[in-house]
Amino acid sequence: MRVHDVTLALRSDMPVWPGEAGPRVEPLKRIARGDSSNVSVVTIGDHTGTHVDPPAHFLDGGAGVDRLPLEALVGECQVAAYDEDEHVTGAWLEGAAFRPGIERILFKTRNSARWAESGAAFDEDFIALDETAAHWLVRHRIRLVGVDSLSVEPFGSGKIGHPVHLALLRAETVIVEGLDLSGVAPGIYEIVCAPLKLAGGTGAPARVLLIER
Ligand SMILES: [Zn+2]
Repeated sequence: MRVHDVTLALRSDMPVWPGEAGPRVEPLKRIARGDSSNVSVVTIGDHTGTHVDPPAHFLDGGAGVDRLPLEALVGECQVAAYDEDEHVTGAWLEGAAFRPGIERILFKTRNSARWAESGAAFDEDFIALDETAAHWLVRHRIRLVGVDSLSVEPFGSGKIGHPVHLALLRAETVIVEGLDLSGVAPGIYEIVCAPLKLAGGTGAPARVLLIER
């Protein structure tokens, strides 16, 4: 058994969504200053790094991250290689080879290779899913969708009302964003996606592991 960690490390100098601050870690206690232990205060946006979007992210009154079904977050998962320079479409999904009955799909795109080289810069040119892809995933009862960018939705789609997020979240599909899939080959794994249990949380950083048997 091999366990792959596909989680971005949380660092103050990591890429974050434009307008958001990166994680801050401030010392509260330090042994070097005469305290009994080392303790830090961490300040972080709930959509920072590798994280999960619950319905409450776009649907007021929707379920928070603490109410996501654990059965969606853990189980068989397919990492699909996507090498195109356009966003993923329903037509592409229709032609892709997915294991019959698969309920969790992660898209490995050119984005994954960019994490290591991007430094703190946010890449507006990331590959995401278009609206037809979101509808395909809902129609095929996919319970968890993972992407290797900070949004499942193309950049700038706020103007057109976030149709990808809305289609997926209305169907209670769990969205996982900010995966680093550079170290894993396409194929079948068991995923363990463990978002922080923030009561009513509008998002939550998650540790995401792929188990290869
Ligand atoms: Zn998000």
